[in-house]
Amino acid sequence: MSLKLTILGCHSATPRVNAHPTSQYLEINNRHFLIDCGEGTQRQMRKYKVGFSKINHIFISHLHGDHFFGLIGLISTFGILNREKELHIYGPKGIKEVTTLQLKLSKSWTKYHIHFHELVSKESELIFEDDKVSVHTIPLDHRVYTNGFLFREKEKPRKLHIGKIEEYKEIDTCDYHNIKSGKDFVLSTGKVIPNSELTIDPPKSKSFAFCSDTAYKPDIVPIIKNVDLLYHEATFLKNREDLCERTKHATAEQAASIANQANVNKLIIGHYSSRYSNIEDFKDEAQTIFKNVELAEAGKLYSTNSAPVNILN
Ligand SMILES: [Zn+2]
Ligand SMILES: [Zn+2]
Repeated sequence: MSLKLTILGCHSATPRVNAHPTSQYLEINNRHFLIDCGEGTQRQMRKYKVGFSKINHIFISHLHGDHFFGLIGLISTFGILNREKELHIYGPKGIKEVTTLQLKLSKSWTKYHIHFHELVSKESELIFEDDKVSVHTIPLDHRVYTNGFLFREKEKPRKLHIGKIEEYKEIDTCDYHNIKSGKDFVLSTGKVIPNSELTIDPPKSKSFAFCSDTAYKPDIVPIIKNVDLLYHEATFLKNREDLCERTKHATAEQAASIANQANVNKLIIGHYSSRYSNIEDFKDEAQTIFKNVELAEAGKLYSTNSAPVNILN
């Protein structure tokens, strides 16, 4: 399982006893990312055993409190724990100012270095890349400048078909690198053995798209097309679509419509308004449009092909 998503918080507005604001922990291809950091995120990380030292990159969608009020607390705790590794924070322009002002006035400068990557583009852009994973922004439509994030595993090399390779005595282990990279093999007779005969397809690269908060915005569909896992906010049910227009949020039906148009494998919805007591209604509404829907719930681990697992069990 190369893509695992842990929900740390999935509610909107204020923290409540059993309703934590947005934060998610993503493990993808051996990389570890924190996405949004609502108030209390560090407590949720401890509760669900997310290692603090694994977090080197934090992605903040927008500067509403329910998505980043936990950031300064987490930065401070990293300092108290004697963190030395640098920390990268990606978020809207202003995130550096709001963070450093608090560190300055509390005379709490961190010993570790914080790199701020401030975002201003209204187009999707590449903001992180290494040999394992890439991250692009997903421009969203909210009351303040907001981005979702698309996390994608890099293409994996083809796998050697050892049974076939061994049929050709001329192929040596030192040729394996070229074969894995897709090259054909030429025998001493001049006969070409096509790469497709010597290799098998690698496992499909996994992808996860995080979209919160946003009004219904179908022009994100080409960016998130065919992702394995889509998290899309669903703050209201369709009987209060009027509130969506005013607050720039989406209904469960709209989230499902985006999932359907983008042909994703699985949709997770969350960011429920506190006006609703029965969260199951969100799933019922979404499933009228798109079947493979899960409700976000703190402490649950989601992957692409199986049902969510409760972490504390
Ligand atoms: Zn929110
Ligand atoms: Zn918001």
